[in-house]
Amino acid sequence: MRDNRQPKCEHDLQRCSTIQAYAAGIVFPNHWHPGARKKMRVTEIKTILLDNIKPYRGGSKWLFIQLFTDEGLVGLGERVTGHATNLNSQISLLHDLCDRFVIGNSPFDIEKIWAAMYGTLHDYRHPGLDSTPAISAIEMACWDIIGKATNQPIYNLLGGKYHDKLRAYAYMPTEGVWENPEKAGEIAQALVAEGNTACKLDPFMPYFPLPRDFPLKTIRHAAKIFQCIRDAVGDELEIGIGTHGQFSTAGAIRVASILEEFNPFWFEEPVPPENVDEMARVAAHTSIPIASGERLVTKYEFSQLLIKQAAQIIQLDVGQCGGILESKKIAGMAEAHYAMIAPHMYVGPISAAAAIQLDTCSPNFLIQEYNVNDLHSEIFVEPIKFENGYITPPTGPGLGVELDEKVVARQLTRD
Ligand SMILES: [Mg+2]
Repeated sequence: MRDNRQPKCEHDLQRCSTIQAYAAGIVFPNHWHPGARKKMRVTEIKTILLDNIKPYRGGSKWLFIQLFTDEGLVGLGERVTGHATNLNSQISLLHDLCDRFVIGNSPFDIEKIWAAMYGTLHDYRHPGLDSTPAISAIEMACWDIIGKATNQPIYNLLGGKYHDKLRAYAYMPTEGVWENPEKAGEIAQALVAEGNTACKLDPFMPYFPLPRDFPLKTIRHAAKIFQCIRDAVGDELEIGIGTHGQFSTAGAIRVASILEEFNPFWFEEPVPPENVDEMARVAAHTSIPIASGERLVTKYEFSQLLIKQAAQIIQLDVGQCGGILESKKIAGMAEAHYAMIAPHMYVGPISAAAAIQLDTCSPNFLIQEYNVNDLHSEIFVEPIKFENGYITPPTGPGLGVELDEKVVARQLTRD
């Protein structure tokens, strides 16, 4: 049998920090050891602001970053934009974070860089959607570099491929559905025919102001839509209630009691996300699983969601919650509470690719939101494969995606 500890070449020998470590079979990556080949360093950040195309998915603007290194490797990241259109302050923040904490350091030092960005500049450790998405963008770019340096997809560095393919879902198109609930049944049949096993819809419009209570008449009308879907496709399609915290606590419990008979996949953000105790009160009053997390960040906020039993389906957003390793930690905490992850995806393509890396290596992965438009595919040299309701994880190193420079140049924001 081949002894894997035997160096294959001079280059491998350099990777061993000491003769003793080598003899013990411990091989340190060269960047960890001051005596080995010089550490790879991040040298520069570039931001790329793009105009999305309609129908907008992940916002009307996409903000990408590139981290450059002194070894020629380039890591891709994305600052999720949501509905923001003026991203000047975020571009400044990305440069500031990199200037202070990333440039000159090894991209392998994820924990050190993260702790410095979060704990020193980032509102003194207060989680928030202002800075944490910028931290996430930088973190995922570091992982992209690490994957390219080791020639491995990121999921292979975080536990390996647990899932060969990833179940996915999107919003049900709802045009005309409120006026004619039977149309929801026809759409559901089409979704099943396309291979989908789940979708979600939000019949409780508008999103704002919130929280509020909806009249009984409105709730009963929403129930008709769910009834039409069940009548059309039976149990072939899971349907999530895709709300955005529109309800008061009592209002949410009332909605749940009426929709419960249709066995929804989940009730998403039944109340706004900041008061976890109130969401827990809803969870205690219904058999519908509660889903939440797209507006929460860091392991600290998610720990409250789990400890207080406010949600069992964790919709973390890899591009917002703190990055890939932070997401893996959150997924691990959820696993210990027998909770599943269903990552949020209203993002651009790079952050979507980061979510796919997490999903692939997470045992408690349930389903991936997949809200995309044509540009999500077109912008990559090799688009991420989605067919019959499933995503195939890319096998390339790092995030497994490469930008098509011509498409990037075409979509650059010029105003
Ligand atoms: Mg949502």
